[in-house]
Amino acid sequence: MSLTGPYDPNNIFARILRGETPAVTVWEDDHVLAFMDVFPQSEGHVLVISKTSRARNLLEVEPDVLTRLTAAVRRTARAVDRALSPDGLSVMQFNGEAGGQTVFHLHFHIIPRWADRGLKGHRDGPIAEPAVLRAQAARIAAALDPD
Ligand code: AMP
Repeated sequence: MSLTGPYDPNNIFARILRGETPAVTVWEDDHVLAFMDVFPQSEGHVLVISKTSRARNLLEVEPDVLTRLTAAVRRTARAVDRALSPDGLSVMQFNGEAGGQTVFHLHFHIIPRWADRGLKGHRDGPIAEPAVLRAQAARIAAALDPD
């Protein structure tokens, strides 16, 4: 999938937004959804997406949507920090297949990092137990800044 082309309304994140595929939500509002990555690269790996935009990547996103997404990434990252006390946080975002993107609905990865733990590979981690993801999401949600 190149950087240009049509938005696929049946991509997995579009299906999550329509409630057709389950996801473990951390928090949401009318504009954004933060949810747990099911193939986490580390404990507490969260994804942030727009609920309203059909941008496939950063090149296509509307400036006002990007502003909301950036604020949501910051809010989520602060909560991940409080909840899980990582040593660092990687915020990642991939564009186009050659750029490492596998789901073509713009998203940001928030990946907690610990100095003494390696990072699982992008796109090849084992699938996480839903109960484990739910517990992590609850801890992160409890640590969110107020709106
Ligand atoms: P990217 O490769 O940057 O497009 O990232 C897509 C991310 O979506 C990967 O980290 C996948 O593990 C994650 N992912 C794929 N399917 C799902 C799903 N059903 N629920 C949550 N995360 C998913």
